[in-house]
Amino acid sequence: MKAIKRTKISELLKSTAYGAEVNVRGWVRTRRSSKQVAFVALNDGSTINNVQIVIDVEKFDEELVKLFTTGACLSVNGTLVESIGGGQSVEIQATDIEVLGECDNTYPLQKKGQTMEYMRTVAHLRPRTNTFGAVFRIRHNMAYAIHKFFHDKGFYYFHTPIITASDCEGAGQMFQVTTMNLYDLKKDDEGSIKYDNDFFGKQASLTVSGQLEGELAATALGAIYTFGPTFRAENSNTPRHLAEFWMIEPEVAFNDITDNMDLAEEFIKYCVQWALDHCMEDITFLNNMIDKGLIERLRSIVDTEFVRLAYTDGIKILEEAVANGHKFEFPVYWGVDLASEHERYLVESHFKRPVILTDYPKEIKAFYMKQNEDGKTVRAMDVLFPKIGEIIGGSEREADYGKLLARIEELGIPMKDMWWYLDTRRYGSCPHSGFGLGFERLLLFVTGMANIRDVIPFPRTPNNAEF
Ligand code: ATP
Ligand code: MN
Repeated sequence: MKAIKRTKISELLKSTAYGAEVNVRGWVRTRRSSKQVAFVALNDGSTINNVQIVIDVEKFDEELVKLFTTGACLSVNGTLVESIGGGQSVEIQATDIEVLGECDNTYPLQKKGQTMEYMRTVAHLRPRTNTFGAVFRIRHNMAYAIHKFFHDKGFYYFHTPIITASDCEGAGQMFQVTTMNLYDLKKDDEGSIKYDNDFFGKQASLTVSGQLEGELAATALGAIYTFGPTFRAENSNTPRHLAEFWMIEPEVAFNDITDNMDLAEEFIKYCVQWALDHCMEDITFLNNMIDKGLIERLRSIVDTEFVRLAYTDGIKILEEAVANGHKFEFPVYWGVDLASEHERYLVESHFKRPVILTDYPKEIKAFYMKQNEDGKTVRAMDVLFPKIGEIIGGSEREADYGKLLARIEELGIPMKDMWWYLDTRRYGSCPHSGFGLGFERLLLFVTGMANIRDVIPFPRTPNNAEF
């Protein structure tokens, strides 16, 4: 076959160089044939759109044409011609076709309209479908937008460790990291496991958050963000929880909680606007096939101011709803950690726009949050979104050494693990704030997908680590 430089389908579909000799490579999505012509829809992942290959059957070996099956990988030489049918602007009149990889009828993606549950069992192949191709292209674009947002604002991307020896982050159950022989565990006289001879000489785990190290960086570089994998071993089988997920955590010196809320709101709106500006083909597909309200919801987010409300006032609204006959699964009272149904009631039913809830009871929030004068609440802020509930959790941090120490002691957090963290408050302490955005929760919102397992290529959840 004549060597012609390959053109990506995304480029080709924009071309008007009719008559040009081109080469495209990709996987067969569908094929229709009549006696004289076969039409093959080819996709190479560069766009959700396929290019139509028109094959004059008489000019090709009959046995070769039989190999143009759904899923097969083809290299096609041909002439770019203006398309007469609706839909695409151009198509390719094939002159030469090589089958790079055959595909027989055991291919799991032959049938259209499979359930999301089924697609998870073929997660190794699902990126080849329209839906997951769209989702993963959007995932890439969002990652890029996040780096661009912070870089343009003068934030530094700071890498925090994945393996940590401090189990005091308090954000969730941790996965242990060990090289010990589990069949021959050494225990001391009290029956406790001895970690002295373990790889790190002490108990180590996978991180649940990069925040504590992020604070070290912010109090040196001024403004930083992390963007990396985090791990939580909670047994939460919900459409919003993964055991392994990616988190973005900005941390900024001299920001108070209002600056923090401003940053969070600007950041999310930037990401959503980026998606609308750069991923519209994929979003339009998802809007049509997955979630009819998607585009409207994305547009409305960038145009509306988020509500800012104290937790105490949020509870009043929820209690009124209960008094007026609204049924929640979980009880509502001051001091309760809000469930997703409560968060969504505030956002979807009451305010009909995103809500930033602040000043939570200190008992349900982490030890490092700045304590308010009332002695009961801390300067926490959660950003609550339609369909998702909590998408961001953050706070102004307690900068006062004495108050932080007292809280750590009160909660019985092992001090020996915290010495390096306390040094930020001991040496040149400063007010600072930050938050964590769950990357997959953002993707749920931007793609309209219903389950968090479907916005990450290979989801890890209880009893599932396939692929
Ligand atoms: P939730 O109450 O929803 O379980 P959280 O309060 O435990 O979340 P944080 O510790 O505040 O979560 O983490 C910051 C952000 O990380 C959350 O706002 C959310 O977007 C995301 N996140 C937390 N846990 C998970 C998880 N298991 N899977 C995916 N994203 C998560
Ligand atoms: Mn939270």
